Amino acid sequence: MIEICALASGSNGNCYYIGNESDAVLIDAGIHFKCLIDRMKTAGVDIGKVRAVFISHEHTDHVCGAYGIGKRLCLPFYFTRKTFNNTRGQFRPAEVRFFEPGDVCDVFGIQVHTFGKRHDASDPCSFVVETNGRKIGVMTDIGIVTEAVSDHFAQCDAVFLESNYDEDMLWHGSYPYFLKQRVASEVGHLSNNQSFELASQHASPALSHIFLSHISAENNTIEKALAAFSQIAQNVTVLPTSRHEASAVVRL
Ligand SMILES: [Zn+2]
Ligand SMILES: [Zn+2]
Repeated sequence: MIEICALASGSNGNCYYIGNESDAVLIDAGIHFKCLIDRMKTAGVDIGKVRAVFISHEHTDHVCGAYGIGKRLCLPFYFTRKTFNNTRGQFRPAEVRFFEPGDVCDVFGIQVHTFGKRHDASDPCSFVVETNGRKIGVMTDIGIVTEAVSDHFAQCDAVFLESNYDEDMLWHGSYPYFLKQRVASEVGHLSNNQSFELASQHASPALSHIFLSHISAENNTIEKALAAFSQIAQNVTVLPTSRHEASAVVRL
């Protein structure tokens, strides 16, 4: 059995849970400890199974809860060295473990495959978590679909996939021009259309669930993101995530 859930997803906090019968990992620590506990309780996933936290990059929405989570749970935190050096002022985890993009990290038999991506951070990474013969991707904060992204996406049975913005809403919205350019750039975020293109071109026949993730509050709506995926293969269930509450828990 595998349980997966987005405990928070969006520009004010990201934290993704992936676990099996006995053990689990969190990807990113962008919500505060109490919120993490409350959302895990509501979702019905067990914090006692969490063995490690992987940090994708140093932006606040991925690390702002790290101090409290690190202090309370005494878990190892996995970083690249550059990401750690850009985060260290913010907290002191009980135990730091370093990885290089491309490494596969073993956590109680859960294999976490790491890979680099384009995003405006010091050493941004994404992850594919492998357990019980299944692979779960966590792919947010991606400026452009590189070969590493599409190759890892193609292996996934389920994926948390960024669907950050609707192009019309972004370009006609209230963001200052420099920020619009940053979001749409090769080191920004994936639009609904870019994300759907990745999914429609590279999905494995085994892909069963896509969680639309890191949906912008300013430049997107859940309805628009879901609509962009309306033509996805029939065997794929598309689910929204939220900044305000935990997503549905999917068990594979
Ligand atoms: Zn982010
Ligand atoms: Zn980011």
